[in-house]
Amino acid sequence: MALIVQKYGGTSVANPERIKNVAKRVAKYHSRGDQVVVIVSAMSGVTDGLIKLAKDISPLPNEREMDMLLATGEQQTIALTAIALQTLNVPAVSLTGAQAGIVTDGVHTKAKIDNITPKKVREFLKKGSVVIVAGFQGETPEGQITTLGRGGSDLTAIALAAALKADLCEIYTDVDGVYTADPRIVPGAKKLQEISYDEMLELASLGAKVMQSRSVEFAKKFGVVFEVRSSLNENPGTIVKEETKSMEAVVVRGVALDKNQAKITLVAVPDKPGVAARIFKALGNATVNVDMIVQNISHGSGTPATDLSFTVEKADLLKAQKVIEGLKKELNFSKVIATEKIGKLSIVGVGMKSHTGVAAKLFESLSQTGLNIDMISTSEIKISVVIDLAMGEAAMKAVHAAFIG
Ligand code: ASP
Ligand code: MG
Repeated sequence: MALIVQKYGGTSVANPERIKNVAKRVAKYHSRGDQVVVIVSAMSGVTDGLIKLAKDISPLPNEREMDMLLATGEQQTIALTAIALQTLNVPAVSLTGAQAGIVTDGVHTKAKIDNITPKKVREFLKKGSVVIVAGFQGETPEGQITTLGRGGSDLTAIALAAALKADLCEIYTDVDGVYTADPRIVPGAKKLQEISYDEMLELASLGAKVMQSRSVEFAKKFGVVFEVRSSLNENPGTIVKEETKSMEAVVVRGVALDKNQAKITLVAVPDKPGVAARIFKALGNATVNVDMIVQNISHGSGTPATDLSFTVEKADLLKAQKVIEGLKKELNFSKVIATEKIGKLSIVGVGMKSHTGVAAKLFESLSQTGLNIDMISTSEIKISVVIDLAMGEAAMKAVHAAFIG
């Protein structure tokens, strides 16, 4: 007998048939004698629909009221899932985040979990019930309803698995696991048997959006091993866990393409102390998230000047351009060039720590595709290049073939 935490995402509970399918899966574990805690998201599209409703009334709705509204999405699915289980004669009870003992801070729409006291969850498990908990929500010590940021049901599942010291944590979604690349772009992409927390985090932040990043960070911090798998078949998924020595044998675990970045270049910025600080402070104050930064060597005669390029999320491009234009007089650069037609291609793997020649191999495979590299950045387990967006998918295929086959 094991204590199992299972999380079913929006597509896994998208309609009555899917909810019945979840109930059948859960019933199987229950009849085996396992204790099962189920976390569900809202039906797919429901959270977006609620946000739209609010925005139709006000462009900037009050965030406390947004939490009140958004929490209802998950509250529908917990009740429906409990009803589906009861119909199969499996004892089941639904609990809101607050009833499950999830206590958060008061930052509405992106609250952090402060602590979990899953007393009620344990009581119902002991009585033989399946316990269904609403994902994505909690409550402040003062009893205000909060939500945990988009995709927050993943966090609910990982945090509950940690608090309950679960034997197994399964994250059910509509894909079979984590792949070496997006299979819709790279047909030869392979499902990974296992991946380390750090690799998973890099891939998630690079646009391979399998899980909410915060939930993976939480799992890493508390050592929660979990499996990402599909609710629509019986295939084993991908195990996410702490890095092991054997993981380093693989140089590149995955290739990701982020199409959501834009690039801004400041041409001929005077090359003197304090200029970069001024630019990035102003961007930071405007809450623009800057990703890659490249500064070239000084050129020109007279006062030395340099070109400075950086990338931001596409959604922040207009805001960033405005900030930069505002600095033109003060900093005296000659012009600003902005483009959305870039892609950020990245290779990720803990094996890079102990292998050499990885960058050379990456650049070689790109050059064989006739690709020009715009910007480069590296970390211990990642190399990213900015390239022409139109060539992004071809580049991804070539790089995947070179490293993974
Ligand atoms: N329903 C919420 C969202 O769509 C939380 C989740 O699905 O994890 O973001
Ligand atoms: Mg989700």
